[in-house]
Amino acid sequence: MTNVTLITGDGIGPEIAEAARRCIDATGAKIEWDLAEAGTDVMKREGTPLPDATVESIRKNGVALKAPITTPVGTGFRSINVHLRQSFDLYACLRPCKSYKGVRSRYSDIDLVLVRENTEDLYAGIEFEKGNDDTLELIDWLNRHSKRKIEPDAGISIKPISVAGTDRIVRFAFDYARKMGRQKVTSVHKANIMKFSDGLWLDVSRQVAKDYPDIEFEDRIVDNMCMQLVQKPELYDVLVLPNLYGDILSDLCAGLVGGLGVAPGANVGTKAAIFEATHGSAPKYKGQNKVNPTALILSGVLMLRHLEMTAAADALENAVAAVIAEGKDVTYDMKPNRDDPTAVGTQEMADVIIAKIRN
Ligand code: NAD
Repeated sequence: MTNVTLITGDGIGPEIAEAARRCIDATGAKIEWDLAEAGTDVMKREGTPLPDATVESIRKNGVALKAPITTPVGTGFRSINVHLRQSFDLYACLRPCKSYKGVRSRYSDIDLVLVRENTEDLYAGIEFEKGNDDTLELIDWLNRHSKRKIEPDAGISIKPISVAGTDRIVRFAFDYARKMGRQKVTSVHKANIMKFSDGLWLDVSRQVAKDYPDIEFEDRIVDNMCMQLVQKPELYDVLVLPNLYGDILSDLCAGLVGGLGVAPGANVGTKAAIFEATHGSAPKYKGQNKVNPTALILSGVLMLRHLEMTAAADALENAVAAVIAEGKDVTYDMKPNRDDPTAVGTQEMADVIIAKIRN
């Protein structure tokens, strides 16, 4: 048996976690679930949205399937997702974007994987607020050392991109491509403008690519990449991107394949791998057995592949694809008309997926 932490989350989290767990168990995968809580529900009882027992369970098992968690507002707690990312050094965000027949989209033949760097770039959280003494001191220093001048009423966000940080994420993208039998890695940047951050990213990408002669390598400037993804997405395979471009382009790519309801993801690092849907906790649907469990179930498929339980992963993905293609036993958001009375609930959609796995 492989031990996996199941974080049930809050909002719609517990319902979709239950649906995903049942579908994964139906594949016969030998998984022992370690149930753990995080989010607003447990906070009401224990006074913290992220109990030590949950962190300890992830640390012990190294693999977690996580349902969405509401970011507490005005409680003094920062985002649990950010906390988990930093605690476990989850440096790679993996976002596969694949067309499934039956999902409404303008495109029908997309099979892309985005690999986003999670720790550096403009999202490193190194910011200087307009007017603060530190900010004025920094502006003064910069104005003395740079040809370009910064106005004294500017706010500043810093964009660090390191050799070590770039090397490990580009290597992650190539290793993933190799493991999954993919052909090409495209490194995305704006090296023509930001020579010392994106330029470094591009140089390191090229260096790392030399260690993977079996995988094709190319680079694209981010603005051109956006146009290409809209016009010719079928030309791309694995994309590796710094944090900010990765955030923006993963939503663009989710849009290419039909949106949040079917967008799985994973945050992978040196100490753990956490698999989760791209969407949030949709609190207004809490407890209604209404929302689509597909994104979390497909995150479970990614998890099974990570655990090298390939037969179980294939069985689950094929069952989900078949149910979506039939379009009958799916949740309201997958129907052409959202008020369609034939839409089924979260658990009923899981039941039909389970029946397909067993057939
Ligand atoms: P959201 O993704 O929770 O919901 C936006 C809308 O998308 C919903 O109102 C609903 O119409 C639709 N939707 C989302 N998931 C769906 C599903 N499975 N089936 C059908 N429809 C679905 O985004 P939000 O409202 O911006 O965020 C709500 C909370 O979730 C916030 O506190 C946010 O911080 C948090 N969040 C958490 C995660 C995470 O845990 N990884 C990710 C994103 C947002």
